This record gives sequence, C-alpha cells and structure tokens, in this order.
Amino acid sequence: MVSPSLLPLEAPTPAHICPFDQTCSYLEQAARELQLDQGLLAILSNPRKVVTVSIPVKLDSGEVQVLAGHRVQHCDVLGPYKGGLRYHPAVTLREVSALAMLMTWKCALLGIPYGGAKGGIALEPAHYNIGELERITRRYTSELIKDIGPEVDIPAPDMGTSAREMAWIMDTYSMNIGHAVPGVVTGKPISIGGSRGRELATGRGVMIIVREALAERGKSLVGARVVIQGFGNVGSAAALLLHQAGAKILAVSTGSGGIFAEAGLDIPALKVYAVANSKRIAVPEAVPITNAELLTLPCDVLIPAALENQITHENVNQIQASIVAEAANGPVTLEADQALLAQGVTVLPDILTNAGGVVVSYLEWVQGLSYVFWDEERVNREMEALMVYAYRHVVQESKVRQVSLRMAAYTLGVGRIAQALTDRGLYP
Ligand code: GLU
Repeated sequence: MVSPSLLPLEAPTPAHICPFDQTCSYLEQAARELQLDQGLLAILSNPRKVVTVSIPVKLDSGEVQVLAGHRVQHCDVLGPYKGGLRYHPAVTLREVSALAMLMTWKCALLGIPYGGAKGGIALEPAHYNIGELERITRRYTSELIKDIGPEVDIPAPDMGTSAREMAWIMDTYSMNIGHAVPGVVTGKPISIGGSRGRELATGRGVMIIVREALAERGKSLVGARVVIQGFGNVGSAAALLLHQAGAKILAVSTGSGGIFAEAGLDIPALKVYAVANSKRIAVPEAVPITNAELLTLPCDVLIPAALENQITHENVNQIQASIVAEAANGPVTLEADQALLAQGVTVLPDILTNAGGVVVSYLEWVQGLSYVFWDEERVNREMEALMVYAYRHVVQESKVRQVSLRMAAYTLGVGRIAQALTDRGLYP
C-alpha cells in the first residue's frame, strides 16, 4: 500500500474500518485495473493540502470551548476544490480526508470541473444554540479565509449543516473581502444566489439512480419496497421523492432508532412531524425498530443514508436487500462490499448514488457565474441528465472491465484525474 505520508495517524480506528484506508484501498484497486504508474498513485493517495484550525467559542453560559475544525483539499487538477462541511461528533481528520478524496472521484465521474475537498468540525450541533453555531461557523470561516474562495475552494452543506451555515460563511467571507461573494459557497439560500432544487438534490439523485437500477432489472419504483437508514438532509429527501414516485418506504431511522410499517410509512406526514419535533420521527401506523434491525429487513432496496461503516462483516450476511444504494459516503466496509458482491447483492456506489448534491452545486455555480437563474424544473432536468449519463457509463464500464459497479465508478473517476494530471504534467 502506498502509505499516505501527509496525514497524522490520529485515529485509533482499526485500518479495516478507517474510512481513509478503505478509500485508499479502492484507489489502489482502480490503479491496478488502470495500470497507473506508482508515481501517479502516490500523488493521488495524498491530499494536496490539509488545514486544521482551533475554533475558540464563548458559549452563552460564559464557558469558553475550543473545537477542532478541518479542511482537506485533495486534488484540484480539474478546477476549484469542492465539497461539503460536516458538523458531527465523529469527525476526524482521517474521515474528512477520505471524504475529500471521494469528492475528487465523484466530480470527475460526473464530469464536473471541480477538485475534491471536505471540511468538518467535531461537534454535536444539538448541544449548541443558533447563536453559538453562528459564532463557531464564522470563526471557522475566518480561520480559513485564505484557503477558500469561488476560484479556490467552495464549501457546501453536508451532515449537520444546511443553507443557514452557508449564508454565515458567505457573509463572513464577503465582509473580510469587502464585497459580496456569493460564489464562495453553494447550497446557500435562494435569497443570496442559491439554486432552486438544491435542498432536495442529493435525495433526488439517489431516487434517480435507484430508479435506473430497478429499470435495468425490469422493475419499477412503483411498489418497490425500500428501507432507509437516516432521515437527515439526504435520507428524508430520498424518502419523500421515492414515496412520490410510488415506492413503499417500509422503515426509516435517525441516530436514536427507527420506525417500521409493513404497509409503508406516510412520508409527507413524517417529514412534517420531524420538522415540528426537533427531527424526532413518529407516525401512528409505525412500530419502533432498532438501526441494527432496520438494516436487515427484507426489501428490494436498502438505502444507508447516515454514517460510514454501517454494513460490516458482522451484519453483512443478514442483509436481505437485492440492491444497496449508498446515499451516505462509505456506509459499506471494504470486507462487507466483497461479501455483498458474493451474495449477489448489487451495490450502487456512493460516488455515483449521492452525487446529485454536488451536481446541483455545480449548476448553482454556473447560474451564479452567468447571472441567470433557472426554474426548478430546468435544474432538475439538467441534474437528471448528468446523473443518468454517469449511471449508464458506470454500467457499461463494469461490463467492459468485468468489475463491480463501485470499481467501474472508481476507474472512470480516477482514470479521468490521472489523464488530467498526465496532460498537465508535474510542476516544476
Ligand atoms: N456534501 C455533499 C457531498 O458530499 C455536497 C458537496 C457539494 O455540493 O459541494 O457530495
């Protein structure tokens, strides 16, 4: 293995479930498949820039806390760095580095001219009030003021963040620069240049990829039995759009557990309930279920839309879905991925399945640069075209190379980056 030299080995995580080691392992498999030379592989195995800042914040109680914030910029050979900003207690530098690398392959696979980056602050958002979250976000932004920008690195929402945080970042950046710079973030509110359709975009992309995969098997979304782990930005949007398309959502969950209804959940009612009850989930027709039970329910499509490492060597043999659609990043461990393949389960890989968000981020950026804003129907149409094109390309690549859909997505993404690096040459 080409060991990444730049990253401190902060995590006591065993290598087989360390997100960064797993992502590097897929990269190495793709490099072998593509017969890349070792020098190129070494370049791609390391992030180009890793920034960690400390974020002191005075809470309303008067207590001062210091949080750790990261931004990892993996590769900008195709264009500005791009990727979300995550607020979650499990954030580590190695996790953020893995997610930055995934963004590089994701953008290359979708054919959008960005490099990969990711940011994260290790915190539980529910433990802070809005004013405290705003101070944390603004301090993080000013610590990174020289590292972000519309031509440098463009943050976006991720787990635990939303349009609200993007507006704070845009404002802090703009105040420091001296004029409004809407292009410094995507996924911002429509009032300051955000795109219609961005909020549901990742979930819509998941729905499109699942629909295409079912269609290839002669099946339809209508009546498809779907189980979703997670009911955040991505899980709740995917649930709603799949429900609207006629699928039956049997179960959904949050970090504290899930709910199940054999006849299908009333997702619009559930969304309304979750908004009104601080993201808790409940509807009359449902019974409680644990996250572990939810993952092993018999269904057509299982959609892990929460954290990494949810399907592991411990539960993979109990998975009863025909298709696993990775709405989260890295929800299936390396070992479980091989086991699913052997069990005949189709895995729709994260860098394809959850790319809808960054695709609409790109469309937001394009609209901002041209000062022409589209209606939602056009945004959705343009996004769908890019997603369907990438899906077909991945399927074709997997047939030609006789590899899994994940490896096909990697060979396409990594191959494009390797070609661009080769064409640009090494500086100096
Ligand atoms: N956080 C999302 C992702 O992981 C979106 C990133 C973006 O829009 O830049 O793909």
